[in-house]
Amino acid sequence: MTSTRAWGLLLALAILPLLPHAARGAVIDGNRIMDQRMSENLCAITFDDGPSRHTGHLLDMLRDYGIPATFFLLGGNAERNPAMVRRIVAEGHEVGNHSWSHPNLRTLAPEAQEQEISATDAVLRALGGNPAYLRPPYGNFDAHTLEIAHTLGVDVILWSMDSHDWKSLPQDYAKLRSTRGTQYESGDLRGIFLFHDTHKSTVDDLPRIIANLLAGGCRRFVTVSDYLAAALDPEPGLLMTRRPAASRPPLAIPSLAVQHRRARAGAAFAIPLARCSRPWQASATSTANAPREAHQPAATRLADGDAHAADDSRSAAEI
Ligand SMILES: [Zn+2]
Repeated sequence: MTSTRAWGLLLALAILPLLPHAARGAVIDGNRIMDQRMSENLCAITFDDGPSRHTGHLLDMLRDYGIPATFFLLGGNAERNPAMVRRIVAEGHEVGNHSWSHPNLRTLAPEAQEQEISATDAVLRALGGNPAYLRPPYGNFDAHTLEIAHTLGVDVILWSMDSHDWKSLPQDYAKLRSTRGTQYESGDLRGIFLFHDTHKSTVDDLPRIIANLLAGGCRRFVTVSDYLAAALDPEPGLLMTRRPAASRPPLAIPSLAVQHRRARAGAAFAIPLARCSRPWQASATSTANAPREAHQPAATRLADGDAHAADDSRSAAEI
């Protein structure tokens, strides 16, 4: 091999990791989330079904806490409320695909599934998002869903801890049962938590959610991507951590001060991972009238033992 060819080979090997990764389409269910190795207990709080008229209040509080979250958005709601999607992205949160109209994907023909997922992917990207994950409504999907995810280059992700906030709010968010039916010992809590920002009661309860999870052992709050990268990254989520707004003091939870201090030490200004130059329009259209007909009761879930169904058989209606 000539030296020129050798250098060319070396250059190709150096560039390889920079190229877009191969199409994905993997399934990250509760088991994979719980088996995720990490050096400290992290928690990723996720909010499905929005954006809604309550999302702005949630973003205000997340900003004050300096906590990133992940929003699995409906394409239809995103289209009706683009300013809110841009704000979610601009403030450093992660957005994921939750279909266009919240159907049970397993009841749809492949073409209809493709439309639900691809149209949502397109609207989220047009609004500045970079969705890396698809969370199928109700956790229901099939082989066609995986093909579509593979084509789009996203993974299918579920959750490890379900708050069941659509039904009622738990007494202690640290005592939720995992998708394996287990409870974490005090001090060991971690996971990807499922909430819905379409519920005012959930949004209003954020301070208690944060306090409970910290008391249960969560060391830091990160996005889903950072949670899953934790085995590789010794400081996952650092860039996603933002300073509280200058006009507002940070909310008084001692453990969070650590997160704020790390952010300040690392950067003079907030460093959102997903940047957007468009300012948030306060006159964002409300999604109060967004159709919710697709939400189905638990009894309509397909339960034929398909391994692709959600591993949390207790979770039901508003996922
Ligand atoms: Zn949902």
